[in-house]
Amino acid sequence: MSRPAEEAVEHASEAGLDPAEAFALLGNETRIEILQALHLATTEREDDAPVTFSALYDRVDLDDSAHFNYHLQQLLDHFVRKVECEGADAGDDCTEGYEFRTPGWKVVRSVFAGTFTGRSELGPVDAPGVCYECGGDLEATYANEMLTVACTDCRRTPVNYSFPPGGLADRTPDEFLDAFHHHVRHHYCLAADGVCPECMGRMETEVETTTAVPDREVAVRHVCRRCDNRLTSAVGVNLLDAAPVLTFFSERGVDLTTEPFWTHPWAVSDVHTTVVSEEPVRVRLELPCAGDVLSVTVDETLDVLDVDRAD
Ligand SMILES: [Zn+2]
Ligand SMILES: [Zn+2]
Repeated sequence: MSRPAEEAVEHASEAGLDPAEAFALLGNETRIEILQALHLATTEREDDAPVTFSALYDRVDLDDSAHFNYHLQQLLDHFVRKVECEGADAGDDCTEGYEFRTPGWKVVRSVFAGTFTGRSELGPVDAPGVCYECGGDLEATYANEMLTVACTDCRRTPVNYSFPPGGLADRTPDEFLDAFHHHVRHHYCLAADGVCPECMGRMETEVETTTAVPDREVAVRHVCRRCDNRLTSAVGVNLLDAAPVLTFFSERGVDLTTEPFWTHPWAVSDVHTTVVSEEPVRVRLELPCAGDVLSVTVDETLDVLDVDRAD
């Protein structure tokens, strides 16, 4: 299943539907057209008024208004809300019409994330930072909704992570990479806090000191118990939001919230990571900045046990 389809199913479940019901409801061209029409009408309107029946009908390529209305009704409970001017809401300004329920909006966003931008590939373009292994230049390539930052010399890939194509819209390559940095940083901050960035379900975290990941001795695995989302990464990227780490860098003029995380070798590789003990698991990272080093020790669930400033 494609990623947008997976997301659409996920959001459909937020709408109180099981995947089969969601597919049945959305597996119809007219309903998809109605959702798309509502999306376009919503983004183009100049106020918050609901979209009227006729405005919606005009946008859908269908000559039979009863047929149109039938499909619109099918969407009502879960994806679309009808705004009616009755009782307390009634007044001269009231417009009767349709608007998205939140799950409907999310489904449409995931289904159409790519089609609205018109672009879905980029690069390779120059990326900031150098290779943690060989010091070579980095380049970024976006294809199949994955962004990869790779070394132009040794081809190691410090970063490989999914990113919705909407991220390309109205952005220069530099702005796109900046948005990608924020996206990934937030995802790992959420995962490290036990929250699945895809479904908000409970995530379990384990630090592994033997891994099958090439070039990586230590890896962090996050697994969502609800949607089975799995993330594997270096230890460091999970510490971008840890207070002692943020403070240490900020006191030396480096803002970890804005500087692309892959420019720090400790965030994307094992280069600054030492396994202190296997049982229990204790892993130490030595984070260098402006001539000082912050030593951070974490346990098997990424809890920070010890912080030591060698400055
Ligand atoms: Zn390299
Ligand atoms: Zn999940």
